[in-house]
Amino acid sequence: MTVTPEHDHFDLVVIGAGPAGEKGAAQAAYFGKRVCMVERAPKPGGAMVNTGTVPSKTLRETALYFSGFRQRGLYGVDLRVKPDITLADFMQRERSVIETAWELIDENIARHRITTVQGAARFCDARVLEVSRYGTEPRLLTADVFLVATGARPEPPSAFALDGEVIVDSDSLLTIQRIPASLIVVGGGVIGCEYACMFAALGARVTLINERGRLISHLDPDVSDALRQSMTARLGVTVYGHADIRSVQVDGRRAVVTLGDGTIIAADLVLAATGRIGNVAGLGLEAMGVRVDAQSFVQVDSNFRTAVSHVYAAGDVIGFPALASSSMEQARVAVCHAFDLQYKRAVSSVLPYAVWTIPEIATVGESEESLLARGAPFEVGRAGFRTNARGQMTGDVDGFVKLMFDPGSQRVVGVTIVGEGACELIHVGMTVIALEGTLDFFIQAAFIFPSLGELYKYAAYDGLQQLQRRHVRLGGMPSARREAARDGQA
Ligand SMILES: Cc1cc2nc3c(=O)[nH]c(=O)nc-3n(C[C@H](O)[C@H](O)[C@H](O)COP(=O)(O)OP(=O)(O)OC[C@H]3O[C@@H](n4cnc5c(N)ncnc54)[C@H](O)[C@@H]3O)c2cc1C
Repeated sequence: MTVTPEHDHFDLVVIGAGPAGEKGAAQAAYFGKRVCMVERAPKPGGAMVNTGTVPSKTLRETALYFSGFRQRGLYGVDLRVKPDITLADFMQRERSVIETAWELIDENIARHRITTVQGAARFCDARVLEVSRYGTEPRLLTADVFLVATGARPEPPSAFALDGEVIVDSDSLLTIQRIPASLIVVGGGVIGCEYACMFAALGARVTLINERGRLISHLDPDVSDALRQSMTARLGVTVYGHADIRSVQVDGRRAVVTLGDGTIIAADLVLAATGRIGNVAGLGLEAMGVRVDAQSFVQVDSNFRTAVSHVYAAGDVIGFPALASSSMEQARVAVCHAFDLQYKRAVSSVLPYAVWTIPEIATVGESEESLLARGAPFEVGRAGFRTNARGQMTGDVDGFVKLMFDPGSQRVVGVTIVGEGACELIHVGMTVIALEGTLDFFIQAAFIFPSLGELYKYAAYDGLQQLQRRHVRLGGMPSARREAARDGQA
């Protein structure tokens, strides 16, 4: 859309049309503000739609479907729906999901009467933004409030000379022309582990090189171990822990990675998944007083306000947790604060976190490690998919639900789930934690049978049993809890 000179001043100018930009813009427009959103890419959606969440999760679904992975071994045959799967099979589905996402964003923008300007933005000073687009005159936009929602990008170490064919990052991975027979993933974080699982499910020989000992190191050790076990035993991924890279070279159409201890590994493709940095280059933020840290993440206060009072920042550009969900919420909170809208004052502290590996992993609230670090008393109740009828039917028997709760009040403070469906199931735990519920909610509730939801009940029973053991050790427990604990044994 063209912006006429008399309309170049807005209540809010948002830079970036990813999830943070779109939702921040819509929030302000919903409350009657005149909003302009600037995006340099031809299509909206940012990393969420174009290079991150949506493509990778569509790829995961496609990989599970075409490889028949969910049903492998269940019916006495090794079900592989389409062994000669091609990249076109992937891309067809990915394209249609992405195109629908673009349409939904465009509809949302139109519904909220948000003005859009295509081009790369940069601040001339704290009040004036210049938008440049190849072949057109730069435009100047002014606003009462700016929201920087420019996201993040992969930043592989200098040893990786990305060529988009043999050595790729998570962006250029989506443009490869063939599914590799062998893949080396460098990085044992979320993105590295997710792609390692997907390609292994498709039959690629996958090697994962992790500089830390633990995969996805912010997960509890038992959860990280369960992931590693599944990746190695079920998916056949070879994992090198505590490994550093000496060199990465391309030899013809293959890559050769040499580790610090001299181990040499060759593969058709190397994926560098070693971290991301904030997209601030060329924006001119520092020159006007906005603080940016060593990883190029914009520094903000609890209201997502930068050091320049009318400039806010939200989403991946401010760093952790760098999720689509948190990015959207941060932007809504930022905008409400900027215009003093008594609507949304803070991002929920009960934020679910999903890892789309095979198996899925989801967490919300406290982990065992965070509770130990705080020195908070806690007890744990567990239930395994193996003991659950639905788990037995689907064949996904290695998963589990783990409840962390306060031993005195029995308030649930954290939930972790490993296994298929974890990223949906976690919302039950999220709700109970947010409403300050206790184990008793699960004990009293009737769950559908057969369902994975029932696992919450049995994890709660197990929690009561753990409490009973603790009280026996400490010399007795109140009678009401004793009865409840007996229920759990029944
Ligand atoms: C492989 C991968 C998998 C992921 N999986 C998940 C997942 O399963 N669940 C989840 O919650 N999150 C996931 N994420 C993270 C999620 O994609 C991001 O958290 C989310 O996209 C961040 O939103 P954002 O709006 O802050 O930034 P982005 O989505 O990155 O959008 C920023 C936008 O700003 C634009 N921009 C940048 N600079 C300028 C400029 N100077 N001028 C104009 N426009 C500019 C960019 O073009 C872009 O469109 C994944 C990410 C990756 C890479």
